Amino acid sequence: MAFDHKKYRPYHPINKTDRRWPNATIEHSPKWCSVDLRDGNQALIDPMTVDQKDRLFSLLVEVGFKEIEVGFPAASQTDFDFVRSLIEQNKIPDDVTIQVLTQARHDLIERTYEALKGVKQAVVHLYNSTSPTQREKVFKLDKQGIVDIAVNGAKTVKALAAGYPETHWTFQYSPESFSATEPEFAVEICNAVLAVWQPTPEQPAIINLPSTVEMTTPNVFADQIEYMHENFAYRDSVILSVHTHNDRGCAVAAAELAILAGAQRVEGTLLGNGERTGNMDIVTMAMNLYSQGIDPTLDLSGVSKIVQTIQDCTQLPVHPRHPYVGELVYTAFSGSHQDAINKCLQVQHESDHWDVAYLPIDPTDVGRSYQEVVRINSQSGKGGVAFVLEQIYGFKLPRWMQIALSKVVQKRAEGVGKEISVDEIYRVFTETFIHSAGKILNYDIHQQHDKQRLDATIETPHGVTTIVGIGNGPLEAFLNALMAHDSTHYEISDYQEHAMGAGSKADAAAYIAIKCNDQNGYGVAIQQDSVLASLQACYNAVVQAKQVQDEEQLQAS
Ligand SMILES: [Zn+2]
Repeated sequence: MAFDHKKYRPYHPINKTDRRWPNATIEHSPKWCSVDLRDGNQALIDPMTVDQKDRLFSLLVEVGFKEIEVGFPAASQTDFDFVRSLIEQNKIPDDVTIQVLTQARHDLIERTYEALKGVKQAVVHLYNSTSPTQREKVFKLDKQGIVDIAVNGAKTVKALAAGYPETHWTFQYSPESFSATEPEFAVEICNAVLAVWQPTPEQPAIINLPSTVEMTTPNVFADQIEYMHENFAYRDSVILSVHTHNDRGCAVAAAELAILAGAQRVEGTLLGNGERTGNMDIVTMAMNLYSQGIDPTLDLSGVSKIVQTIQDCTQLPVHPRHPYVGELVYTAFSGSHQDAINKCLQVQHESDHWDVAYLPIDPTDVGRSYQEVVRINSQSGKGGVAFVLEQIYGFKLPRWMQIALSKVVQKRAEGVGKEISVDEIYRVFTETFIHSAGKILNYDIHQQHDKQRLDATIETPHGVTTIVGIGNGPLEAFLNALMAHDSTHYEISDYQEHAMGAGSKADAAAYIAIKCNDQNGYGVAIQQDSVLASLQACYNAVVQAKQVQDEEQLQAS
């Protein structure tokens, strides 16, 4: 059998009984370090061009990153040249620190410092691999041999830094493959490096703990981080950083639990590009904080630009359901969701905390609009349709009008077999209920004894006619005039009107439901004059009822 789970063995959890992280909460944002230009870039089919790197670097600065890993200059001439161009062309703002990666080899560390010559401040990021698999199969060294690589690298990093006194240096060490390394050994090797660097609270070192490959549930990673947090020497002089990957789909969760467990800094990429399944997605984690009332210290209000730039630089599409930024994430398709959103939005005041069903954040915070909240397909209920017309066009449809419209919209959506756009809904609405075959040109009302007499002139495709009727009010008089004119029985079953917008010059919208024999008809009209609005809506309802009757007769024959 090819698909055989017995091929794999379970991960052994850490034997920890004094966990504190499950009771912790995240109260402020971690320090962020973007590794888009290094880890992200090295995972691309086509690595970024200099122009793309420049564009991405500017975006990272604009979003507010203060630490940006820009490459692996000792391993790649392109990276070397890019680092030089940033420094020589003065592209690094004073409050931004660039970071570069290097292996723990003397010649590579030397070349790394050459790349950084003249920079105001930088992080030199040293790594070597520490897991049993890497020790035994890749490097064929015992534990001491691996510690020696790290310690010698740390010594070289420290010694060569002294040759560049104009730069403020920070040293960072990563035990690569940390997540697969025995925790006791990870502590041993990190402490050996720290003993070389002798960090102080004023001059801290960064220890970065990667889940180079994500291998466990996030709680196990949190245990590993808490263990390190408790066992570092120089703990008050160490910035504990994590660098998670998404192999099991939990990179963000692992980083969040790591913060609970004592991590202070998080490395990741915007939208999660990176080796294999990608790096931790900083946009998602930062927006998770934001949605809990925590300042993420990054400005993600322009997600469209972020998405566009990342897509242009990585040539990778963003999934339409990507958290917070996907094309569909503020779109509700189901009628009950639309209805709930609609009801919540109506009572959501600017001064209150955001509390809208199905919308964890206000889409406008990230430059998205309410217009996207609702799309209509054949499953959408009347709530969605009514919501669209009210939010965008200002029509407050009475319930019976919502039902009538949603039937027509649903029919149209079924006809085309897909969702129909907001513009299409508006077109269906106006074509069916507003634009009728007749227009009331003018009307005249006279008091006749205790009744009112109405004369109305109507323009139809067949010509101009004047009809006359008497009733208790203009609408009843108009209906009587229509009945006298075409000898059909009409009866108004519902009527409603409201002002469109505010002010004395606001148009009036009138909605009328009539019964024409057994057939219901619905009409809507907007006019400056509210009496004319009601008469025209009534006429439109009569026309619509007749149209439906004609269609049904046509189908029957
Ligand atoms: Zn990585």
